[in-house]
Amino acid sequence: MEFNSSDRQLQNQWYRVSTRLKAEIGDTAYENWLKPVKVCELNGSEVRIAVPSRLMRDWVLTNYGERLRQLWSGENPVVKSVDISIQPSSAPSASALEDVPPMAAKARKSGDTQAKSSGWEAAASEISAPLDKRYTFENFVVGKPNEFAYAAARRVAEAASVPFNPLFLYGGVGLGKTHLMHAIAWDIVKRNPSRTVMYLSAEKFMYRFVRALREQNTVDFKEQFRSVDVLMIDDVQFIGGRDATQEEFFHTFNALVDQGRQIILSADKSPSDLEGVEERLKSRLNCGLVADIHATTYELRLAILESKSEQMQITAPPKVLEFLAHKITSNVRELEGALNRVAAHTQLVGRDLTLETTQEVLHDLLRANDRRVTIEEIQKRVAEHFNIRVSDMHSARRARSVARPRQVAMYLAKQLTSRSLPEIGRKFGGRDHTTVMHAVRKVDELREKDSSFAEDVELLRRMLEG
Ligand code: ADP
Ligand code: MG
Repeated sequence: MEFNSSDRQLQNQWYRVSTRLKAEIGDTAYENWLKPVKVCELNGSEVRIAVPSRLMRDWVLTNYGERLRQLWSGENPVVKSVDISIQPSSAPSASALEDVPPMAAKARKSGDTQAKSSGWEAAASEISAPLDKRYTFENFVVGKPNEFAYAAARRVAEAASVPFNPLFLYGGVGLGKTHLMHAIAWDIVKRNPSRTVMYLSAEKFMYRFVRALREQNTVDFKEQFRSVDVLMIDDVQFIGGRDATQEEFFHTFNALVDQGRQIILSADKSPSDLEGVEERLKSRLNCGLVADIHATTYELRLAILESKSEQMQITAPPKVLEFLAHKITSNVRELEGALNRVAAHTQLVGRDLTLETTQEVLHDLLRANDRRVTIEEIQKRVAEHFNIRVSDMHSARRARSVARPRQVAMYLAKQLTSRSLPEIGRKFGGRDHTTVMHAVRKVDELREKDSSFAEDVELLRRMLEG
């Protein structure tokens, strides 16, 4: 096709926009969702693009719509909006969608032997995503926050028949959901190589759906899962909001459960809290076993660091590990990252791993974590320090022995968090913002008059900052 010059400009803009977006979302997502996009025209301030199906449109709109608009108006300030329409491709086999490379998925045992028989090869190798060799039960450190999820995962892996369906794992980012899912897969395959396990991201699953629907091929789609004993879909929070897809998902899900297939799902929220998901699907998801992974504790973080440093064969003084466990509280991924950075640095410069180098190397990361002190933590530490109950932080008691520590906690909340005065007041038993203001003034006043009090406050501040 011949482009006139404005067409060509538009195509060039799209090229740059899609390249940027590709870098942000990764090759697979790009291939799945953006490559099929056809750029139609610029109409006033609106760019018009088209995709082959309604589901694709919903997906692109929900996940990339806003970013597309931003990037495009960055390329061409005239552009204020992006409209996505549906334009079924006339020749499906020639469409860009078809040259998506199959996801390589050869599960290997920790040795190197091919772990699967032909069933796995045929069904899973084309769809299933690769499993990470390191994500095994052996490498998973168990502690209070994850022991339930871990036990449930083990149970599913060991069971000869389906113990509960689905197993729904949920928890915040970087807390081990994907790790546990891969561990189940490895374990099942190790026990019985003839069992087939399929693991894929919700995004990939949806893409398959969309393609099947477009080709009016949902029967085949479901058939693909028929040969699978265990189906795992990671990060299903992305399924919400797209009604037609949910409908199909619901049916496929039911069909698989009826056929006695084990289904394992993960999400960042509990089924009941999933946004934009129909009630009947929620209640179906709640029917199996729902296991949440809680935020890490200091003990778990320390245990993970000990295990990882042993695996990495680095000798880290306990002080360093304790320091990291105290400071990097966000999630395990970040904790691992911190340890890797410190280890890499010390190896590179050939220095010993010490507390000083750790602080130096992680300077930026530590600052970012510092800002995450919570009011709850402040209340707890201050209560401990003054030997009062945490509940007294919220209580109406006005005795000096509790009122003063409470004021100190309010003061520190103001200093160390970005919460507003009314927000802080609410966290202290619903007090008024003027009470918080008064507390801040009072503590400032006392710090000037009473040096041992000032030291106390300073000590607490440093403790909370780490
Ligand atoms: P999620 O899927 O919940 O976002 P991941 O499973 O990807 O989290 O975990 C992030 C990283 O932290 C991975 O490298 C994983 O191996 C590691 N990790 C998480 N929890 C644990 C644990 N309990 N023991 C060992 N490693 C863990
Ligand atoms: Mg994950």
